[in-house]
Amino acid sequence: MAGSKFAYVRNFELPDPLLPGTFMVLRIDGHAFHRLSEEHNFMKPNDERALQLMDHAARDVMNEFKDIVLAFGESDEYSFLFRRSASLYNRREAKILTTVTSLFTSSYVFNWSKYLSDTPLKYCPSFDGRIVLYPSPSVVRDYFSWRQADTHINNLYNTVFWALVLQGGQTTTEAHATLRGTVSSQKHEILFSRFGINYNELPARFRKGSVLVREEVSDAVETGDAPQADQAISTPTGEPASVSDKKAQKKPRVRTTVELYHFDIIGDEFWDGHSNILAD
Ligand code: ATP
Ligand code: ATP
Ligand code: MG
Ligand code: MG
Ligand code: MG
Ligand code: MG
Ligand code: MG
Repeated sequence: MAGSKFAYVRNFELPDPLLPGTFMVLRIDGHAFHRLSEEHNFMKPNDERALQLMDHAARDVMNEFKDIVLAFGESDEYSFLFRRSASLYNRREAKILTTVTSLFTSSYVFNWSKYLSDTPLKYCPSFDGRIVLYPSPSVVRDYFSWRQADTHINNLYNTVFWALVLQGGQTTTEAHATLRGTVSSQKHEILFSRFGINYNELPARFRKGSVLVREEVSDAVETGDAPQADQAISTPTGEPASVSDKKAQKKPRVRTTVELYHFDIIGDEFWDGHSNILAD
């Protein structure tokens, strides 16, 4: 299509492809959520409703972007892992990053009232986002271990901190001072001896964060109805298969759903049971 004499300005747009054959991890993080959580009276240390809202937005992202094979969330952040061979938007970084971040944000706002029904949203929340490329499965595993270890460290600190404030009557300044220099075992001890809280019995959601993963639905079908909004159909090779694709209709197809867990992803067990995540 012939352009106008102005069309040359397009040449100033530079390509931004992400290196092929690498694992993309896209992480979003709430902008100034310390303030947002205070302004909207989130329960401390963990407002479960706000975490469920984050999970909902992440699930919406995974239902839209089938190349995402794993997501991990804690606090105001979520990390999304794309399969190694993902080729969406020709791997253009800005296109992927902005589309995912804005979809997450709009879902967060769209669904806010379902989770925080007694708390009207006072202003527009926003999320920052980045994409980091990792060259090998072992670094990807270390990335997710890093985030889940962070969940544990932050949650242990926050749990003791808010016990000291809300049950122990300390000011926030005093509570920070009490905790300064303490190691993990001392925090467990304060929780148990002063407040009767056994940290390991707290909800797994708070201690382990949220893991979203695609699981195959056991009753694999030859052909079937159109997938539900929260379900995808793929061939056993993982290639996307449209319902109208005649070739794909002859093959057995595997339905998948996005499942939410709050379990350990640092050890081998999760990865051994989900070897497809790091396969391609
Ligand atoms: P930045 O814009 O740099 O990310 P931030 O204020 O969002 O700044 P973070 O380090 O991202 O800071 O921390 C997010 C903060 O949001 C937490 O420290 C906590 O105070 C609050 N927060 C997020 N989710 C929850 C929740 N479910 N319940 C209670 N507080 C929460
Ligand atoms: P991409 O995701 O690549 O941007 P797109 O479908 O959004 O694809 P665009 O080139 O951005 O394609 O064009 C946006 C299209 O949206 C327009 O061509 C038009 O069809 C439609 N559109 C946007 N705003 C309006 C509007 N105010 N009234 C009617 N149609 C609109
Ligand atoms: Mg941040
Ligand atoms: Mg933040
Ligand atoms: Mg954060
Ligand atoms: Mg347009
Ligand atoms: Mg457009």
